[in-house]
Amino acid sequence: MTAKAYSTTASPEFVFQKLNEIGVPTHFVRRLNMREQLIREVEIIPLEVVVRNVAAGSLATRLGIEEGTQLPRSIIEFYYKNDKLNDPMVSEEHITAFGWATTQEIDDMIALAIRVNDFLSGLFLGVGIRLVDFKMECGRLWDNDMVRIVVADEISPDSCRLWDIKTADKLDKDRFRRDMGGLIEAYTEVARRLGIMSENEPPQGTGPVLVKS
Ligand code: UDP
Repeated sequence: MTAKAYSTTASPEFVFQKLNEIGVPTHFVRRLNMREQLIREVEIIPLEVVVRNVAAGSLATRLGIEEGTQLPRSIIEFYYKNDKLNDPMVSEEHITAFGWATTQEIDDMIALAIRVNDFLSGLFLGVGIRLVDFKMECGRLWDNDMVRIVVADEISPDSCRLWDIKTADKLDKDRFRRDMGGLIEAYTEVARRLGIMSENEPPQGTGPVLVKS
């Protein structure tokens, strides 16, 4: 077990806790305190699993599809985690040939990705947000001689595209990437709608008040 430190606007364990509750295995165990969570130690698979429901970002650019186009079905893509190479997209052939994951593990990752997508799409739809796409990572969890694939790392507005259903406003990291401003406000809005404002948020006070003795 490892303790992981964090600091973001919304409770980062919210999604993983919910996934555990519905039987989608993750590396998350429980929150320890305001800054740390207890997670199971996993061997991270060097792949980013991207699930897309609506064309945006690199898919829209690569295939010349207008951003915002609903995809005929959810599409799952794999990217090799390598900063020097800029995380290139890879096929299942590459993944098995280079030994990053087995065919069975790929099937397990796809099955997990579909369940996470269904869960998150419903969760966000309920608060008026469209889940356009997201990235997740998986790890191998060893249990004596048994190994199983679990969802690892974290899923947050940093790794999702979230658009307001009515206004199509972006409520995710694209605000930062595309220099649109209002990132904190957008993250706060997502957390507020989900009812998960973090307890370690700075108080909205008026500043220090001098107390006369
Ligand atoms: N994403 C991520 N980390 C990365 C690359 C992508 O979290 O290193 C997420 C991104 O936020 C989006 C989805 O994966 O929700 C698809 O990203 P895309 O391939 O469109 O790349 P981008 O346009 O974000 O560079």
